[in-house]
Amino acid sequence: MAAIKWVLASDIDGTLVGHGGESELAQFLAQRPDIGVVYLTGRTRANAEMLIRRHGYPDPLAMATDIGADVYWGPDFHVDENWAFQQRRDWSPRRVMRALDGVAGVSFAGRSSHWRLAFQVRDYHALSAARTALVQEGVVQRTLWDEDEMRLDVVPRGALKGRALKYILNRLNVRPQQCFVAGDAENDGDLMEGRYHGVLVANATIRLADQLPPVIVRSPYEGAHGVLHGLRQFLDEPAAVMETEYAG
Ligand SMILES: [Mg+2]
Repeated sequence: MAAIKWVLASDIDGTLVGHGGESELAQFLAQRPDIGVVYLTGRTRANAEMLIRRHGYPDPLAMATDIGADVYWGPDFHVDENWAFQQRRDWSPRRVMRALDGVAGVSFAGRSSHWRLAFQVRDYHALSAARTALVQEGVVQRTLWDEDEMRLDVVPRGALKGRALKYILNRLNVRPQQCFVAGDAENDGDLMEGRYHGVLVANATIRLADQLPPVIVRSPYEGAHGVLHGLRQFLDEPAAVMETEYAG
């Protein structure tokens, strides 16, 4: 722990995994024990852990799953009870179910994890009816819309990657300037609001790319290649400045 100088805080799907370059990045990180890795993912813990291991990525300093609903600490992946308690405080799956029960064109598609309720939505009319119903029921929540699958996920209000990362870095006593973020999709958006340096990989969604602050590099490379490219730049340039700053 004492040797950690930098943190790579990264999304998994589409960023670390799925577009090539996984083994190059894993090798680079294996040679740089001064870089700790925090994984921020929409996946569940078991699922994310399996992917990390399959690609030889380092054990996490911490991992936020379900887009930040849960925080686990590495290397043994024990859950952060304090964080889970905060999520639980205003999270009521029963009220979500009640609000959406009977909304035409909306059907419960299962619980993909402890925190995530998935609903299949027939069309945009049904989507807007679902959103209205949640507001009317006064349910405190956050929704994620998957346009390709016509699926609406309902998660706790505090389930945000950026919020989880801030909590993790505070606990680790790591400053924002020491952290480099990487992502590809809209649920990485709150990591890229300018608090941290970072990279948006080439395969990322356009909508996010339009609103990037200058500390976020748009990589010409996809997936893990993009992360490696951006991370190297970060370590070469701002790192030099910051090292002198920290020397005192
Ligand atoms: Mg992703």
